[in-house]
Amino acid sequence: MSTMDTATLTCLGTGDGHPSADRNHSAFLYRLGGVTLLVDCGEPATRQLRAHGVGADDIDRILITHLHCDHIGGIFMLMQGFWLLGRKKPLTIHLPAEGEAPVRQMLNASYIFPELLAFATDWQPWQCATPITGDGLILTPHYSTHLEGLRAAHGAKHPQKFEAFGIAIEGAGKRIAHSGDIGGLHDLHPLVAQPLDLLLCEVAHCEPAQLFQFLADKPIKQIAFTHVGGKWRERRAELIGLAQSQLGKIPFTFVEDNQRLTI
Ligand SMILES: [Zn+2]
Ligand SMILES: [Zn+2]
Repeated sequence: MSTMDTATLTCLGTGDGHPSADRNHSAFLYRLGGVTLLVDCGEPATRQLRAHGVGADDIDRILITHLHCDHIGGIFMLMQGFWLLGRKKPLTIHLPAEGEAPVRQMLNASYIFPELLAFATDWQPWQCATPITGDGLILTPHYSTHLEGLRAAHGAKHPQKFEAFGIAIEGAGKRIAHSGDIGGLHDLHPLVAQPLDLLLCEVAHCEPAQLFQFLADKPIKQIAFTHVGGKWRERRAELIGLAQSQLGKIPFTFVEDNQRLTI
């Protein structure tokens, strides 16, 4: 099988936002044909990429779903690594628009100047529901209400955009939906509107029983659940049993760090 025929997901970090001694924060490596995407860059993404033999020039695009630290906290070390490892391939970074200026400022503050890098970085902020094409892929960000609660409580003092996205990824003959962090099941509607080869779905910000019920009749070939948090970490067997009983014939897995799925 040539690399053009393969579609895989390597789970670099499957934890939630809480500090953990045994789980990494969100980072997922998709290989779709000859294209490699890093979706979210929680710590310790750089170490994980090294451990999985991913070279500095291997990643084509970085997709950041939102700016919570468990999803973006590893990006500074990643860029330092690209500098020290001598990355040459141009890099595209998709992220919420409000993140571009501060992330670039922080890179400058940490002495990762553009002039040091032997590659160009193309910053492409997400525009809600506007597909991006390139590398033979179609990437479509769909708005998530994940941060709306924070907006309601703190938006007056902190007038930020509070943007979060789930991403539809089409390429290599596959259709994938990556939920990012959600605010409720309604955020999944646009992602599951069409048949999917893979849904990667977080479970920290919803009631799992309702989520499984919602997904049970959707045309999805495979579901990978991530971001298990709170009480469910200790009740994993119960959680899996719940999914088994409600999802019917849809194959699913609760992914762990370093797990690799064929899509
Ligand atoms: Zn998160
Ligand atoms: Zn979050």
